Amino acid sequence: MNGQTSFPVNLLRQHVFCPRIPFFHEIMGFQPEKPFWVSYGNAFHIKQKKLTAFRGMQRFSLTSGQKHFDCILAVPEICYHGIADLIIETENNVYPVDFKSEHRSMYKGQILQVMAYGVLAAAVFKKCFDKAFILSGKSGKTICYEYDSEWKENLARISAEVSNNLRTGIMPDSSASRKKCIQCEYLNFCNDRL
Ligand code: SF4
Repeated sequence: MNGQTSFPVNLLRQHVFCPRIPFFHEIMGFQPEKPFWVSYGNAFHIKQKKLTAFRGMQRFSLTSGQKHFDCILAVPEICYHGIADLIIETENNVYPVDFKSEHRSMYKGQILQVMAYGVLAAAVFKKCFDKAFILSGKSGKTICYEYDSEWKENLARISAEVSNNLRTGIMPDSSASRKKCIQCEYLNFCNDRL
């Protein structure tokens, strides 16, 4: 990590939405009120974890594996850290799993986040990582994402951008659209929008 401060994995997702959000959160310490759907999401996570604890491995195309829920992941060599919803550990591999209450296509930032958990889990468990899963909606519809060269490049580039922005401590420019800004909990802190 070359002496840099480690940042929470969710800032990767936030950075993809708008690069100013990690700055507001980490540098300025702004804590906007959480929208109502956050408490719904927390309850959903608890329920999905209970269900997944009893479900088989078929939906992951695995025959067996150890499930590590709320898995704490941090290593000095990687500039981000976090707590994964679930890491499945097999003899040679690790598979990160994220639970999402929304039943729709996932955003790039959401996929990037589960990939980051995979990279961390590979380092912590000293095993291979090549696939990540997102379970969405009440039925736990399961989508598999390959950790391919494109995602590797995306993760390396975006994590470097977040690190760099936090190190300089300067509010970055943003190309966020009006549509994004009107739903953003940090809108009150941006005086050059709308
Ligand atoms: S209001 Fe717009 S520019 Fe400001 S942090 Fe939110 S998305 Fe970014």
